[in-house]
Amino acid sequence: MKAHDGMYIGGQWRPAAGPDTIAVVNPADEQVIAHVPAGTAEDVDAAVRAAREAFPAWAATPPAERAAGIAALRDVLVARKDEIAETVTAELGAPLALSRTVHAGVPVLVAGSYAELAASYSFEERIGNSTVLLEPVGVVGAITPWNYPLHQVVAKVAPALAAGCTVVLKPAEDTPLTAQLFAEAIHEAGLPAGVFNLVTGLGPVAGQALAAHEDVDLVSFTGSTAVGRQIGATAGAAVKRVALELGGKSANVILPSADLAKAVSVGIANVMSNSGQTCSAWTRMLVHKNQYDEALALAAAAVAKYVPGERVGPLVNAKQQQRVRGYIEKGLAEGARLVAGGPEAPYETGYYVSPTVFADVTWDMTIAQEEIFGPVLSILKYEDEEDALRIANGTVYGLAGAVWAADEAEAVAFARRMDTGQVDINGGRFNPLAPFGGYKQSGVGRELGPHGLSEYLQTKSLQF
Ligand code: NAP
Ligand code: MG
Repeated sequence: MKAHDGMYIGGQWRPAAGPDTIAVVNPADEQVIAHVPAGTAEDVDAAVRAAREAFPAWAATPPAERAAGIAALRDVLVARKDEIAETVTAELGAPLALSRTVHAGVPVLVAGSYAELAASYSFEERIGNSTVLLEPVGVVGAITPWNYPLHQVVAKVAPALAAGCTVVLKPAEDTPLTAQLFAEAIHEAGLPAGVFNLVTGLGPVAGQALAAHEDVDLVSFTGSTAVGRQIGATAGAAVKRVALELGGKSANVILPSADLAKAVSVGIANVMSNSGQTCSAWTRMLVHKNQYDEALALAAAAVAKYVPGERVGPLVNAKQQQRVRGYIEKGLAEGARLVAGGPEAPYETGYYVSPTVFADVTWDMTIAQEEIFGPVLSILKYEDEEDALRIANGTVYGLAGAVWAADEAEAVAFARRMDTGQVDINGGRFNPLAPFGGYKQSGVGRELGPHGLSEYLQTKSLQF
């Protein structure tokens, strides 16, 4: 794999300030595939200065021209989609088919949506005797995780650039090669120097320096709740804007009237995709007591098709593999029953975990409350709809969810009572324009579409 040994700052690849590097490992075979520089506070400072210098001109660039720049970026992402898919597979371990359709494909949709929005959005509105100007917030510090290494970058950078902001990105240490490819795409698209800058490095060093930098106006973070809490506190103390996209423990509610076989098979596919490393995954399946045994049989048959090394990739690193196996052991210790899988790793090499399904899970068990971030599904039994609602809403999270019923209106009525930011009705399709983000401890703010764009804007009211 090709890797840059510098940082992309002010429109060029520059040597890093310090000598340290990060080894990038392929989680499928545990081989080191590349090294990238580990950035320091000095690199972050240089990148923030470049972003600050580029800001006035980019903010003053007509939206139609910003739109053209984002459209050019989308075109480069299309032209280089095979290289992107191969890079994601190499450093994240996702099966190539998933890397092509989701990891390389979704960012094209999102970049395209912001090219259109930048051109059509009204950056000015009239309210009574006022004209309200919607102006860019300024320099954005973006900190992203490894589970959707390009999508999470594009979901921040595209709306930020559309709004007229400039960006410094600190990507996850496990997936820096995809971020370097993205910087190449920005360069190839001809975006002005300094509007996007990349500092690879470790969270507690480069990430911390970026979140705390006094010349960053907005910090947009996606990742764990523990780090998000810390970043929110730092931003609060400095009175700067912050967007947090954190964990989830979403419920897949199958009402008695639903097509049970379809709901179970789509539910299994949802959890096993990306090896369960999806913050919005429906990791708790809720089934009526009269259909419980049938659902378990359907789930066991469905999960058998998810063979590690074929349809299911490894986890991103050894630590995540250990963490997930620990949760499976904890589930057994707390009295849940295995329908499939278990804590033993299926292979000696590669950070694989067996696709695992638990039955007899009660809402208060650790595996039903905490984000596991692996291919592990818990199936819970409910008595009636009120019980299902209590279980569905009974965690600190509220990111996503699903409801299945024979009648769409019945499913919608239930979805209205869920404390969560997104609900798929009878297996609804992905919409790149729909706001994505959490209720409760799943986060603050929204990404994607016009709601995602407004996160990067601030208002100025002129009275006449
Ligand atoms: P994480 O530590 O929160 O990582 C997210 C990003 O924050 C990475 O770029 C990370 O850098 C950076 N970071 C870490 N510590 C930081 C700090 N003190 N200041 C600023 N930035 C910092 O997540 P993780 O350790 O990779 O994963 C742990 C768990 O988080 C997972 O098991 C899962 O439950 C959850 N998670 C959720 C999502 C999501 O989409 N909501 C995504 C990933 C993980 P490094 O890469 O160097 O750590
Ligand atoms: Mg970490």
